[in-house]
Amino acid sequence: MTDRQQQAQEGELFRLLAENVKDYTIFVIDFQGRVQSWNPGAERLLGYREKEIIGQSAEVFFTPEDVRSGVPQKEMKEAVEAGRGSDDRWHVRKDGSRFWAGGSMTPLRDDGGRVRGFAKIMRDRTEWKLAQEQDFQARLLDVVGQAVIATAPDGTILYWNRFAETLYGWSRAEAVGRNVTEVVVPQAGVASAADIMAGLRAGREWSGEFLVQRRDGTTFPSHVTNTPFFDDRGTLQAIVGVSSDITDRKRAEAALEASEEKLRLLADTIPQLAWMARPDGFIFWYNRRWYEYTGTTPEQMEGWGWQSVHDPATLPDVLERWKGSIASGEPFEMVFPLKGADNTFRSFLTRVNPLRDQEGRVLYWFGTNTDIEDQKRAEERSRYLAEASAALAGVVDYESTLQKVANLAVPYFADWSAVDVANDDGTLRRLAVAHQDAGKIRLAHELMRDYPPDPQAPGGAFAVLRTGKPEIVAEITDDMLVPGAKDERHLRLIRSLGLRSYICVPLVVSGNPLGVLTFATAESGRTYTDADLALAVDLAHRAGVAVENTQLYQALRDADRRKDEFLATLAHELRNPLAPIRNSLQILKMPRVDAATVERSREMMERQVHHLVRLVDDLLDVSRVMRGKIELRKERVELATVFARAVETVQPLIDAQGHQLSVRLPSESLPIDADPVRLAQVVGNLLTNAAKYTEANGRIWLTAERSGDGVVLRVQDNGIGIDPAMLPRIFELFVQVDHASTKAQGGLGIGLTLVKNLVEMHNGTVEARSAGLGKGSEFVVRLPISALRVEPDRNRETGPQADESPSGFRLMVVDDNQDAADSLAMLLKLQGHEVRVAYSGTAALEMTKTYTPDVVFMDIGMPGMDGYEVARRIREQTGLGKVVLAALTGWGQKEDRRRTAEAGFDHHLVKPPEPKAVDSVLADLKRPDAR
Ligand code: ADP
Repeated sequence: MTDRQQQAQEGELFRLLAENVKDYTIFVIDFQGRVQSWNPGAERLLGYREKEIIGQSAEVFFTPEDVRSGVPQKEMKEAVEAGRGSDDRWHVRKDGSRFWAGGSMTPLRDDGGRVRGFAKIMRDRTEWKLAQEQDFQARLLDVVGQAVIATAPDGTILYWNRFAETLYGWSRAEAVGRNVTEVVVPQAGVASAADIMAGLRAGREWSGEFLVQRRDGTTFPSHVTNTPFFDDRGTLQAIVGVSSDITDRKRAEAALEASEEKLRLLADTIPQLAWMARPDGFIFWYNRRWYEYTGTTPEQMEGWGWQSVHDPATLPDVLERWKGSIASGEPFEMVFPLKGADNTFRSFLTRVNPLRDQEGRVLYWFGTNTDIEDQKRAEERSRYLAEASAALAGVVDYESTLQKVANLAVPYFADWSAVDVANDDGTLRRLAVAHQDAGKIRLAHELMRDYPPDPQAPGGAFAVLRTGKPEIVAEITDDMLVPGAKDERHLRLIRSLGLRSYICVPLVVSGNPLGVLTFATAESGRTYTDADLALAVDLAHRAGVAVENTQLYQALRDADRRKDEFLATLAHELRNPLAPIRNSLQILKMPRVDAATVERSREMMERQVHHLVRLVDDLLDVSRVMRGKIELRKERVELATVFARAVETVQPLIDAQGHQLSVRLPSESLPIDADPVRLAQVVGNLLTNAAKYTEANGRIWLTAERSGDGVVLRVQDNGIGIDPAMLPRIFELFVQVDHASTKAQGGLGIGLTLVKNLVEMHNGTVEARSAGLGKGSEFVVRLPISALRVEPDRNRETGPQADESPSGFRLMVVDDNQDAADSLAMLLKLQGHEVRVAYSGTAALEMTKTYTPDVVFMDIGMPGMDGYEVARRIREQTGLGKVVLAALTGWGQKEDRRRTAEAGFDHHLVKPPEPKAVDSVLADLKRPDAR
């Protein structure tokens, strides 16, 4: 049998086989892919009858995708090369539906071994394939970490994955077939089911978060996405819901929210204003304090709304710098004012820092505004006080001092300041006003002039002056102005000042109220606090001290000027007597001067010397009185005695002026406890003045009378009188009234000072009265009448008066002033004594070696060895124990006398020694107890 025959037999065999194997699809294609044979199984599976398919291309059985990718050719090639190909894949039926078939393709060869075609055998395995596929998807969904649930449109559960079982607590078997609402029970936060379904039917996916209950009743927050599935005709077929447990996320969110809340709470509790802005500077959040301070709302503030609480004067600068920071990303720091809810501005220190991400880009700006107004004011206050103190130290008169106080206050401390001082009549004088605007100063003066404050008002300048208590009105309201206004214009004027806040403090100088300082605010809008009041009080105190200093300075300057005047007067007064003395000496030198002329010259000299001695005595007295160095030698004395002694000394002057003196004393005895010498000096001085300040031939009255517990002495004259303005001052040292109209009267301006001091030492008072110039004067001295027993003063010089000078003693005079020593020696020699002179202490001691005197008159103040020392040494020398020592000194007080006595002196004579005093020393020598 040939190959061809064999092959034909095989082909026939295959055809028979194919026809009889009904369950298999078997057909043959030729090398071009055309169908050559077709069995009933093929017809059943593929839908083509034999007649219609024979000769057709087998490509119709392939899916268009496979045809496009050349699968038919690939399969043939594979079959040729491998001898057999497999074609497990999707096929297409005549009606277009698809099926999965697995089969084989075997090449058919001719006798020559060439491939003529292929035999294909396949079996429908669609069901298996689908089952395979479904199982995989189901397993796929079971490994998903989310619940996947498919439901029919009516809610019947079609699919329930493994995760859904754990999430909801229902097994797949339990869940499938139930309505979804039975097993997935939303607790809260879910939109209406109808709305959701409507959206899904319209093709919209829905997702949301809500609390879901598990089978065991516990709940969890869930995130759900529902997706609708439609069939070819657009009918909703199923809804697939994917849900997950978002507990962790929610917790994280809650934690974040809590920390944000904490931050907000913190930001709301800090005293600063705080805010946050986007990188572009848009502010999206402010803390509570911001809204409280500014009195604004979030709507007004959002973004760039903050500009409304800025001062237009500083805003441009703030904006420029803030924008600069936004552009550069650099922190921002600046001080500027912000307007508060009460429309006043306060200073804030503003700091803004950027919060950056990892790449360094600005995420947010954090800003804080810190109120530094109080701090700023405190700094201003201390600066103001320091400046005020420095300024006050430099002024010398009190008016400019107070003007300075007012000026310094503006504008640091006040918009207005005024200083009012109290006049003697109780009114107030506006000494100084300060305001930056001169027009307003005029207004203030106008107000003060036209509407002076009411002295009886319960508040204000007068009340402060009266009570010495400072006053503060933190907030001046219109209600306060209206009752105080005297008329319409007044009210208009005060309103126009626009006063806001006010402080008034007393100005006290040396414990006495001098006036008030007033500070007020207006356009600055600031209100005073207790700290400001304290500052004002402090300032008033400093001003008071400054005024006191200027007064002291003035007093010093006055005293200085008076001293200069006094020295001029003194020189003049001392020179006056010198002229007649010199003339008299000249006369005495001339030959052939007659005895009467000599006598007159001598008298003249005596008078002038007496006058000089009086002047010097007064001077010494006043200086001692002023230094409290005078001691009174008080004794019980009759006033009549004092009067007699005083009149005796002044009588010559009274007579010379041709005055008439009347003395009147009550008949009763007027004993007083006084130093008779000093009191006579008082009366004598008053009488001397009466004589001096009364035109020739005037009248003078000296009277005394009892008055209560005391006695009143009066010295009255009908002379030139005293200007009332001068009356309070004439008792001051060196004060003399400038009598331009009257001739110079002589005197040093110390007489009345002595009078006053001596009277006061007697616990009395003296007062000057005069009805004015030309109306005469009266001096009234009041003294307490004595009721005391008086200890007589032992040191008093009360030796018996010698009628005749003693003579014939051996005397020594020691004095470094040679003229003084020589003239005393000359006087003593003329009286018939033997006299030796020594000009120093050592010379005196030397002399005593050869000459033993009865009496030594010794000066105390000598250079080298002083009188005390010489006295002690003399006392130590043997043989000189009996020598009488008499001290010559300018000082006659108890203390001085004690010292000379201690040094061994027997007598104490005040220079220049009165001839009588010298005599009494010598008179003592004769007494047996003295020798
Ligand atoms: P003086 O040495 O100038 O007299 P006083 O202290 O005694 O100094 O007096 C002071 C001034 O008081 C005198 O300069 C005089 O102007 C005035 N004065 C004193 N007594 C009288 C008087 N009786 N009448 C008028 N003026 C008087």
